[in-house]
Amino acid sequence: MKTIFEIKSKNTYRLPRCDVPEVDLKEYLGEDLREELNLPSVSELDVVRHYTNLSRLNYAIDTSFFPLGSCTMKYNPRVNEEVANYEGFKNLHPLTPDEYAQGTLEAMYRLKELLKELGGFADVTLQPAAGAHGEFLGLLLIRAYHLDKGFERKTVLVPDSAHGTNPASAALCGFEIKTVKSDEKGELDWKDFKEKLTEDVACLMITNPNTLGVFERRIKDIADALHEKGALLYMDGANFNALVGVARPGDWGVDVMHFNLHKTFSTPHGGGGPGACAVGVSGRLKDFLPVPQIDYKDGKYFLNWDIPKSVGKILTFYGHTAVLLRALAYILSYGKDIDLISKYSVLNANYLRKLLKDVLVDPYESSPCMHEFVLSAQNLLPYGVNAMDVAKALLDYGFYAPTVYFPLIVKEALMIEPTETESLQTLEEFANALRQIVQTARTEPEKLKQAPTRTPVRRIKEAEANRKPILRFMV
Ligand SMILES: *Cc1c(COP(=O)(O)O)cnc(C)c1O
Repeated sequence: MKTIFEIKSKNTYRLPRCDVPEVDLKEYLGEDLREELNLPSVSELDVVRHYTNLSRLNYAIDTSFFPLGSCTMKYNPRVNEEVANYEGFKNLHPLTPDEYAQGTLEAMYRLKELLKELGGFADVTLQPAAGAHGEFLGLLLIRAYHLDKGFERKTVLVPDSAHGTNPASAALCGFEIKTVKSDEKGELDWKDFKEKLTEDVACLMITNPNTLGVFERRIKDIADALHEKGALLYMDGANFNALVGVARPGDWGVDVMHFNLHKTFSTPHGGGGPGACAVGVSGRLKDFLPVPQIDYKDGKYFLNWDIPKSVGKILTFYGHTAVLLRALAYILSYGKDIDLISKYSVLNANYLRKLLKDVLVDPYESSPCMHEFVLSAQNLLPYGVNAMDVAKALLDYGFYAPTVYFPLIVKEALMIEPTETESLQTLEEFANALRQIVQTARTEPEKLKQAPTRTPVRRIKEAEANRKPILRFMV
């Protein structure tokens, strides 16, 4: 496709004839008048065509299936957009005094109360900008808790099946990381955990369901063991899509959990928009939450700055309000049927996993999966085909690729998350595409090495494209 600079057409816009005297700009601007600027000069029709065609090069949840494991790329209902675009919400200045912002404060307060209820937490903050920021806050709270008790604990235990952001957030917060192994079922290895649970452990940071899509059945025992040693339990709840309305982490003894509102509660994210995160805490950490908290007293909603042990502020203003509003609309649209989200997402994942049973290798076959599952393309290695080739080939079938090479504990991993919003037909079409790709791998493997052939760009150098992206067209 041509860039706008390469399109040659005549500027055809129409304006009424000028009825003021023309002036020589050089007289006014002198040296500042730059003539070397190479601006595109194209007709209105060509501008419209150019940008329409450009937008059609994008892959989006609105155009096709997006089985990107751990990212929960579900449909974003349009009613959310309508709510977030109400004039009263949209035009509110962030420095408006509380008494003139009652509607927005009430909406935030209601979201906070709903998340407390859904997660079983003593309190919730909506301040963090996204999941990893919520993790960082959760760890700040844990550090503040131990310091308040009078001693510093330096170690955070992280299972090898945790999301990559977990050890990264803990390291950023100044903790030392110790990795805990997974057992053959894909759950936390109890013996290894108990051995590593020393007096220096501040918390265990566990993703549950973990990145294998496996639920940690001993989560309550894990919480008890930690508490007995004076340590806390951080649960990464970005995958709350698997649990919402069915189970409450606070009831298991989880002390802090971040919710990825942009995943579980359906707002466009990744390349499609910003995220928003809520962090729920147990009574142990309530006093350390960031200021301000949204509170309600004597018929008024207000930003409460009076939290003496607070870790402070972690965002310029209060949360990503427009995303929070979308999440609230989504929760309210389900009402008491909110458990359908997790029930259908788990059902869809298990169904798709069964469809792919004899297509790729299922390394944790004996463990039921929750909202996602991990397969391995190691059965294709003898043909010279790997997980990356399979992912690229899927693009030619019109599907987005699953997450690949993660989690690290599975060789040639493909991590697939269908979400609850996909139909049986879509799941079956996706399974058929994978089946055909595996067939091609056996018969004409060199064909897969060429994929993708139907996308705007072919194979890019993954690392270089991320580290040195070229975002500007040079003329
Ligand atoms: C997405 C995700 C995160 C990070 O969330 P961001 O909003 O991308 O920062 C953390 N943990 C898990 C399990 C996730 O899926």
